[in-house]
Amino acid sequence: MNADRETIRALQDALQHTPDNIPLLRHLADLSIQVEDYELAEQTCRQALALQPDNEDLKSRLAEAFFHQGKYSAALVILEALADASQPSAQTLLWLARVKLANNEVQTATECYQRAKELDPGIYEETLENDTIDDLKVDEKNETNRTRDSAPGSEKEEQIANADLDSPGVSFRDVGGMEDLKEEIRMKIIHPLQHPDLYQTYGKQIGGGILLYGPPGCGKTYMARATAGEVNAVFITIGIHDILDLYLGESEKKLHNLFETARLNTPCVLFFDEVDALGAKRADMRLSGGRSLINQFLAELDGIGNDNEGILIMGATNAPWHLDPAFRRPGRFDRTIFVPPPDREAREEILRLFLETRPTEDIRYRELSKTTERFSGADLKAVVDLAVENRLRDAIRQGKPGNVTTDDLQQAASKLKPTTLEWLATARNYCVFSNEGGQYDDLKAYLKL
Ligand code: ATP
Repeated sequence: MNADRETIRALQDALQHTPDNIPLLRHLADLSIQVEDYELAEQTCRQALALQPDNEDLKSRLAEAFFHQGKYSAALVILEALADASQPSAQTLLWLARVKLANNEVQTATECYQRAKELDPGIYEETLENDTIDDLKVDEKNETNRTRDSAPGSEKEEQIANADLDSPGVSFRDVGGMEDLKEEIRMKIIHPLQHPDLYQTYGKQIGGGILLYGPPGCGKTYMARATAGEVNAVFITIGIHDILDLYLGESEKKLHNLFETARLNTPCVLFFDEVDALGAKRADMRLSGGRSLINQFLAELDGIGNDNEGILIMGATNAPWHLDPAFRRPGRFDRTIFVPPPDREAREEILRLFLETRPTEDIRYRELSKTTERFSGADLKAVVDLAVENRLRDAIRQGKPGNVTTDDLQQAASKLKPTTLEWLATARNYCVFSNEGGQYDDLKAYLKL
């Protein structure tokens, strides 16, 4: 392991001199995965993909890095696009099987796995860990197989018990752009919380949640956090995968406890990330455990036998098309809002926010906002970070501090590519083929379809 770490350091040094060297980046990504530093693997793959956006091998590695960090939605978006190609590799199908399995979509997981095995019969022994094989063999009579890393008292369980419950630390002021979304949130959940009498007078129903969907890194989580900050509420966040991974039967209990914690901490924003993990339509769910978790979730959302007053429920997903329609009924996630990559003005505002506290020199924000089309908020953050890093390196070399300039930022932007393109390409298909009831109309308008 130490030797690997040494090699990683050597590779990082080498990359300082040749940052565009794809084989080196690829090697670094592989080693990072080997030593289970998945964040570094993700960062390295992104860097390499910025140089070679169509490199399928790198995309597959990025999906692997996402998977290990529990970012299943992001992994799914990449793998589905790769699997749609005319000749997907066995590796791609295998990873898709694992993500589907993590999403409790056992049937599709098994199909993907079978296809992988047909393409490469050796893949079974080579790559799948035994526990995963067992999981793929799960059937209704054999549900207890899903006990891996989820026995009561396990780390996952503790994670849920200590669900991230904190003060948000940001408010709408810290969110660049997204004015329409801010207004929608004000009308839908902030005003009703602040003026319940007024809403009742006008016979306007209070309650229901907002589901945010869109490409990764465009501020869904950030916006939910800022909503909590806006009304001085506690922010409770939990990934659906953390609940799903629990021992069967435990998930329902934990989910209930989570809502109870929220009820005891009002006003609060209860934020569910990766809601699509509960996506497999209930009828398709072969695991009755999965079905009962969904039913439990719906009952909690409806506040059956309990009072959800003062709880603002928000959810986020990269893959709304995988969500059971039951979640969209009135009183549940009855508003689905598309969070697009920031528009030109929003990019300008976000860049200003990120550079507010840095030493800068006459930044031409308008010019920068034009060259960063389709960049997500997170991508813009990466641009600023890279420019600052380069400036810092120069400052150390020259022994005197210097300001970050527009050119520094332009140069950094030219090294990075927007990470939203992949998602937008996948979304286009869903928009064209599954826009029943006009649920993706705002996405359709954005894509100019
Ligand atoms: P994912 O789907 O991957 O979970 P997300 O849409 O939830 O992504 P966030 O995690 O909210 O994205 O955003 C990543 C980071 O990008 C935030 O922590 C924040 O620093 C920055 N960011 C994104 N959008 C904005 C914005 N509009 N204003 C300011 N910062 C932003």
